[in-house]
Amino acid sequence: MGLIRTLTKKEVKEKVREWKKEGASIGLVPTMGYLHEGHASLIRKAVEQNDHVIVSDFVNPIQFGPKEDLATYPRDFEADCALVESLGADLIFHPSPEEMYEPDFCTHVNVDVLTKGLCGARRPVHFGGVCTVVSKLFHISEADRAYFGQKDAQQLAVVRRMARDLDMDIEIIGCPIIREEDGLAKSSRNTYLSPQERKAAPILHKALTRGQEMIENGEKDASKVKAKVSAIISSEPLARIDYVEIVDWNQLQPVETTDGPILCAVAVYFGSTRLIDNFIKED
Ligand code: AMP
Repeated sequence: MGLIRTLTKKEVKEKVREWKKEGASIGLVPTMGYLHEGHASLIRKAVEQNDHVIVSDFVNPIQFGPKEDLATYPRDFEADCALVESLGADLIFHPSPEEMYEPDFCTHVNVDVLTKGLCGARRPVHFGGVCTVVSKLFHISEADRAYFGQKDAQQLAVVRRMARDLDMDIEIIGCPIIREEDGLAKSSRNTYLSPQERKAAPILHKALTRGQEMIENGEKDASKVKAKVSAIISSEPLARIDYVEIVDWNQLQPVETTDGPILCAVAVYFGSTRLIDNFIKED
């Protein structure tokens, strides 16, 4: 059966009702489109683990701040459909903003604590917008499992906490970061980079790898690891650091030592393009 393209919540719900009647499991992969190998890895895993897979393809306006890149965010729905179909997903949901948000929409889902630092500190409306749209997608899809990339590590932690705290009956599956050959994490926003910036951007992965090695070799002082990662990134003239942080991988609060599960996350500007990357030490 070919890929089902849906623009309305109603159509998705009708299909979901059919599948649920058969006792089938459903996997959901929320995306903003302009799909690449990172998204493909999530879709592949969802296809492996579920009877039916829904991919949402929606540039969610409420997670963008007024000075962010909503208008210029790259889009190519036809290419997205071709990729999603080739991976064996069943349905792509591509609603308009009007379909998702009534003109008098006024309910938001906000997760506290975990959203205060890292990207949340710089992008005040971002995680409220993400949690609100993801909650809606969970309800529309009635999915058993939803797939999120570690590329957006804070998002993964926040969505997992939201699902637990609000008793959402869904399993949140985290998936590893997919990278270009030179180490740059794949991202739809990489298309904004000039050729010089693109050449410079793998410094993030280089710096994080060095930080990870320091910890593996026994460095316990988080500030020393942060200083090393920052120094390596700063050695690249085109890179402008937004943040380099080490936080615990539960509450996302800054830590002094590298004991226990931690997230080391960076956000760095190349020109006006802001890239993020990270590594997680699980125990
Ligand atoms: P986006 O379309 O950027 O909102 O991303 C949709 C999902 O794909 C999110 O869960 C991202 O974390 C995930 N994702 C994006 N890039 C990558 C990547 N390079 N590796 C793994 N997952 C990714």
